Amino acid sequence: MATSHGRKSTHDGRSDRLSEYKSKRNFDKTPEPGPTPRRSRTGRRFVIQKHRASHLHYDLRLEVNGVLKSWAVPKGPSRNPRDKRLAMAVEDHPLDYAEFEGVIPEGEYGGGTVMVWDQGSYLPDDDTKDVAKAIEKGELKFTLKGNNLKGSWVLVRTRGRQWLLIKHRDAFASDESVTDTQARSVLSDRTLAEIAADEGGNVAKAATGDPVETAPPKRTPKVSRAARRRSSRASPSRSRKSSSGARRRGGGRHGPGRS
Ligand code: MN
Repeated sequence: MATSHGRKSTHDGRSDRLSEYKSKRNFDKTPEPGPTPRRSRTGRRFVIQKHRASHLHYDLRLEVNGVLKSWAVPKGPSRNPRDKRLAMAVEDHPLDYAEFEGVIPEGEYGGGTVMVWDQGSYLPDDDTKDVAKAIEKGELKFTLKGNNLKGSWVLVRTRGRQWLLIKHRDAFASDESVTDTQARSVLSDRTLAEIAADEGGNVAKAATGDPVETAPPKRTPKVSRAARRRSSRASPSRSRKSSSGARRRGGGRHGPGRS
């Protein structure tokens, strides 16, 4: 049973909250961000990353007190209130992870391709005074303001690290299979296969995470500040040679590209 003084570091509010994140990764090998706690302007960011690791899953992350509380959702979120999606609690991630899209080298923890599938902000329900406490107690009701997901949701713990992610009935509930209809990054408009191709990953493996039918890119890619810095360093002639001129090319966060 959790007591206020005997809790493990992964549940606590101090600087060692990212120790599990840190211990699982070799930052000389992975392009993932380092274990620095940092708060966003609003303090209420959320991100969902589609991750083709050993198995495809979607990582739901909510900013709480300077870290991203994280759940791996094997089937991904559903807008249908009848669906109860298993969500396995995983280690807290640093806030900087919300912008991470790219390739984790094979053999490293979580090796595979990562896409920023949705992002935005969340609001805990009115009766939730303390989000960390609500998570500790095993039930959090919240509203998402993202590109793909909006409206009211609940995360409820069943046992151990197992939680369920469920859509509440509201104007944003729907039968649409949003994981099939929304197959591209909200940051770069790329599929998993395109991210792998651009960033030196395993394209065939990544492609198994893309829906069979993937709509062509529609949106103007919303590229992060960091990505713009990266692309401004890339040679313009190289980017024009890319199969899609609009597509960002090259090294990503692992430094010099391996393409
Ligand atoms: Mn993951």
